[in-house]
Amino acid sequence: AKGEGRKRFHIYEPSVKYDHVVKYSHELELASAIERCELELWYQPVYNTFQSKIVGAEALLRWNHARQGLLSPGDFIPVAEETGLIGPIGDWVLRRASADWHLLRETFGGDFKVSVNISRVQLHEPGFVERLLAIVRQERVPSGCIVLEITESTFIHDVDSFSQLLKQLRGEGFTIALDDFGTGYSSLSMLTLLPIDTLKIDRSFVHHMNPPLLFAILAMARALNLHVIAEGVEELEQFKKLVEMDCPGVQGYWISRPLKLEQLLQGINGIQGT
Ligand code: C2E
Ligand code: CA
Ligand code: CA
Ligand code: CA
Repeated sequence: AKGEGRKRFHIYEPSVKYDHVVKYSHELELASAIERCELELWYQPVYNTFQSKIVGAEALLRWNHARQGLLSPGDFIPVAEETGLIGPIGDWVLRRASADWHLLRETFGGDFKVSVNISRVQLHEPGFVERLLAIVRQERVPSGCIVLEITESTFIHDVDSFSQLLKQLRGEGFTIALDDFGTGYSSLSMLTLLPIDTLKIDRSFVHHMNPPLLFAILAMARALNLHVIAEGVEELEQFKKLVEMDCPGVQGYWISRPLKLEQLLQGINGIQGT
């Protein structure tokens, strides 16, 4: 047993070291990724089942790494959050999305909404609201056309201070969406405390299609006057069920995968439902 333990240690150690190296080099490279124009925003359309059209898009960050190719947010957002780089990166995302909104509205109409993901770490930064406002004003985007997506788990430990912040943001006209709803083990009473506009039902609920549960979430959202978007809709069957249940918003591979801006602007005929 003693030998086994030692053996396991030796197998484990190199991978730990390797992770550190990868993380450290990501940290160094991420710091200059903005100047080197290696960050990209991809857009996934948001479809409205009542209006039968694309009404918005969620901006999803990609890092086009010189050697490793296209990296997903899961590969580098945690590093950005640990190092404070999430501040400048988040600002870049907001500025890029605001600039792109002008092109998107030409194709999809003036009430088109662009969603950006906001990390819990960003919300904690002093001056976050002021910087956010400065960016959308400089880029001349009405705040009503920007959706701020905040993951449900953000609020578990600190509903009070975050709800103050959200009230302020809503007062400025932004739309607030609670992301990954259903995964954060939050209490339902939290929903009545948080000033939010939209629930984004996590894709796990769509995948393990459980009609009574989805139906209950939709009924609750209606009672609380919340808009709903179901995430991760990959199949026609899932889409049909959600339409049957009067789910107003749908997002997922079945509508469209995340696209580059040019693809979204050009390829709208290929997107389901358009
Ligand atoms: P999220 O906000 O829940 O975004 C949805 C994720 O699900 C995206 O992954 C998207 O590509 C993926 N997805 C969309 N439709 C489907 C589907 O039908 N099936 C499946 N299996 N997946 C689908 P992605 O782009 O890898 O982003 C992962 C997470 O990274 C996002 O989850 C979000 O929390 C975070 N993220 C993305 N962009 C940003 C950003 O600019 N800033 C911050 N702070 N976080 C970001
Ligand atoms: Ca999101
Ligand atoms: Ca989500
Ligand atoms: Ca997520």
